[in-house]
Amino acid sequence: MFSSELLPVNIAGEWRLGGGDAYESLYPATAEPIARLNAVSLADVDEAITRAHHAFLTSGWAQKLPHERAAVLHRVAQLIREQGETLAQKQRLDNGKPINETRALVASAAGTFQFFAAALETLEETITPSRGPFVTMSVHEPMGVVAAITPWNSPIASEAQKLAPALAAGNAVVLKPAEVTPLMALELARICEEAGVPKGIVSVLPGKGSVIGDAITKHPLVKRVSFTGGTTTGKHIAHIAADKMMPVSLELGGKSATMVLEDADLDHAVSGVLYGIFSSSGESCIAGSRLFVARSIYDEFLTRLAEGANALRVGDPASEQTQMGPLITAKHREGIERYVALGVSEGAHIRTGGVRPHGDGRDKGYFYTPTILEGLTNSARTAQEEIFGPVLVAMPFDSEEALIEQANDSIYALAAGVWSRDFKRAWRIGRAVQAGTVWVNTYKQFSVSTPFGGWRDSGLGREKGREGIFQYMEQKSMYWGTNDEPLPWAGVTHRAWSN
Ligand code: NAD
Repeated sequence: MFSSELLPVNIAGEWRLGGGDAYESLYPATAEPIARLNAVSLADVDEAITRAHHAFLTSGWAQKLPHERAAVLHRVAQLIREQGETLAQKQRLDNGKPINETRALVASAAGTFQFFAAALETLEETITPSRGPFVTMSVHEPMGVVAAITPWNSPIASEAQKLAPALAAGNAVVLKPAEVTPLMALELARICEEAGVPKGIVSVLPGKGSVIGDAITKHPLVKRVSFTGGTTTGKHIAHIAADKMMPVSLELGGKSATMVLEDADLDHAVSGVLYGIFSSSGESCIAGSRLFVARSIYDEFLTRLAEGANALRVGDPASEQTQMGPLITAKHREGIERYVALGVSEGAHIRTGGVRPHGDGRDKGYFYTPTILEGLTNSARTAQEEIFGPVLVAMPFDSEEALIEQANDSIYALAAGVWSRDFKRAWRIGRAVQAGTVWVNTYKQFSVSTPFGGWRDSGLGREKGREGIFQYMEQKSMYWGTNDEPLPWAGVTHRAWSN
């Protein structure tokens, strides 16, 4: 698979080597290189954005009728599906997720393009109630060059989530993938080209976030940034956006509460909690990383949960049987280990996990066992800070009031889960919990037609949903005069002109 040849990047439709330093993308399961490429340089960034702006003005993409642009996006969806297995294998190598998971991400990317093609073709502008002799309308226009900055945890899906609506809206897009996972963005650009998106409308600019991402965000021709990543980076981008008066959407971190009530179906709840925190090795913004269990069932539930965690198959991402692959980098695993040590210093007892697994070819990769910490309170740093790994903090609760108070006691408010057979109680708690998404008797399920985003430090704005296209457009009100007479203020009348 590994070729020592440098991979080209995409500068406004031109495939060529980036002008920055060369680096290797490693397979997290073995730490072996899978690709070499040059990061882009600051000059590449300026050239890509300037040429993207030109392509926006001249390529005709923005002027295509909705059904014409939709046809191209449908072709993108089709090509993703046709090349699905190759893409899924490539993404597995790029970020180490198990193959079954990367197949699902590829399918989700195709579904996202299909959805936004359909949404574009059927999207309606509004005629608003008029307050005078004019027809009033609200319409939307593309913005120009928009930037999409993405993290490493689910590349093809999160990139499609931005690229599809931004293209549907008629914009040119510069995509900045995470430095460690550049491959899917490059594949998407290739597929867009093959599907008929005009040259220059899509660019892929891999490189270091603090240099390349920063330069993209600050560029005067970039009219909007759609960012997914950490809260600290998101706040930095929000400051730059404020200076430029530029709209941004920020999909940021989380520390989501999962709540198991005493009347929950325990089989469902155990499976759901395990999936919520340990799938994707916990490298998921919506991971249900804070668990609250009713005290009356706490011991039984934790026993079953720990047994379930121990039984998870952690290993080779190429195997169909694997449930948890490695973590993304050696450095990220060290960060998770530091958090587990911090938890212990805060009084945690490691119920299970907390170590690197050995054997079965796992020693070279960045594997870590599913870990459950007990004995902490919700105010512990380990219970408050995002770990972004397979670490669950489990706590008992005594009353519904205390549960809601603790669930909401977090700077984050991205998602939450409620497990209960009592639908009235689940409804009450679901409404009282502050979060962008609440799952009741399920977890980590997604539909592209349902808006997604966070409250508080988990972000600003929403992705997905039909309205997702409007996030990448400027809104414009139009007044069409229908007067028989001139406006009265200047005293000029129809009769005066005809004299
Ligand atoms: P990160 O913030 O370090 O990086 C995200 C992206 O931003 C990368 O492409 C990076 O190169 C770029 N970047 C970094 N510094 C930048 C800067 N100064 N200016 C512009 N761009 C910059 O995050 P990460 O470590 O790649 O991803 C993990 C984080 O992403 C977690 O906090 C996770 O919760 C969050 N996340 C959120 C969602 C969501 O939808 N809410 C989804 C996935 C991941």
